[in-house]
Amino acid sequence: MTQRARAEVVVDLDTIAANTAALRERVGRPLMAVVKADGYGHGLVPSARAALAGGADALGVAVLEEALALRAAGVTVPLLSWLHTPGTDYAAALTADVEVSVNAEWALAEVVAAARATGRTAQLHLFADTGLSREGATEADWPGLVAAAARAQDDGEVAVVGLWSHMAYADAPTHPTIGAQVRVFEEAVAIARAAGLTGARLHLANSAATVALPDTWYDMVRPGIAVYGLDPLGGDPAAHGLRPAMTVRARAALTKRVPAGAGVSYGHTYFPESETTLLLVPVGYADGVPRAAGNRAPVLAAGAHRTIAGRVCMDQFVLDVGDAEVRAGDEVVLWGPGDRGEPTAQDWADAVDSIHYELVTRIGGRFTRRYV
Ligand code: PLP
Repeated sequence: MTQRARAEVVVDLDTIAANTAALRERVGRPLMAVVKADGYGHGLVPSARAALAGGADALGVAVLEEALALRAAGVTVPLLSWLHTPGTDYAAALTADVEVSVNAEWALAEVVAAARATGRTAQLHLFADTGLSREGATEADWPGLVAAAARAQDDGEVAVVGLWSHMAYADAPTHPTIGAQVRVFEEAVAIARAAGLTGARLHLANSAATVALPDTWYDMVRPGIAVYGLDPLGGDPAAHGLRPAMTVRARAALTKRVPAGAGVSYGHTYFPESETTLLLVPVGYADGVPRAAGNRAPVLAAGAHRTIAGRVCMDQFVLDVGDAEVRAGDEVVLWGPGDRGEPTAQDWADAVDSIHYELVTRIGGRFTRRYV
């Protein structure tokens, strides 16, 4: 930790590259690294560059702003953006050579209009809803979308370069919906091919499917969380050759001795059983430390795991370190790879009844981000 940093999120870019390389090696086919949500809280552009250094062939983001930010930073690889609302500036997407996903005929019409306006051919991925009931065209709407896309492709306004979908239960590799979604996907692909959309790359697999479901790999995989080294199946990432890239730490702002029974933090939900030393950690829910972590989540301080004492406040929380020797300025680790004795984001997810995705994407606020 740098000398003066009060609180920092440290991101190991070589680890992101190594995770990407391990996944790419496992699947032996193109890999689109998902870097949406500011690279899952690890930083959009640095994470993207690290994933590319590790062999990613393409990048995926949710919203167009993220794609345009990557292009502005000089990233030139194929880039897919998929979550658009009516009135999206598709002309900007086409001008920046961003591939776009469409879910519906009205969205396709907007893309076609942008293609005409810019004189460019839109690179399209058609999203089939195969059972998640989130993005994508339903089985009822798919043939109409495919037919419209095929007409636009014949007219040179679009090139359908992808047919894709997303899974509901890939993190439960034996779940019956998996086979059902694969069947619906293959029917959707057959309909598209019969309509002349033969040049499209097929992609379905998120991280969980990338590590656990080879039948879903098709022409390209699309992992996000695994690129950052977290196990999509909620276990030990080392089992998949992955290592968490993020470490979250802070320096103690204050220590003090308090008597047995002192009420700690708002609402006095914690009382030490005997005289003890409290340590004040200067990060709180405004920085992305979940309020639910109070009296639940573990932290490494003074050489041991300590559960947060009392409620997490907006800017700070308290630890009870007993009679351990501590001083203001001492390091406290919230989570990290786990191989230096610190808790992991998975430990926090288990403690606060969440998922590591939510923890890493929300941490931020007034933390300094540092890349190593
Ligand atoms: N594909 C789509 C459409 C997504 O929305 C996401 C993330 O939620 C991913 C791929 C990557 O998922 P994961 O981080 O579970 O690998």
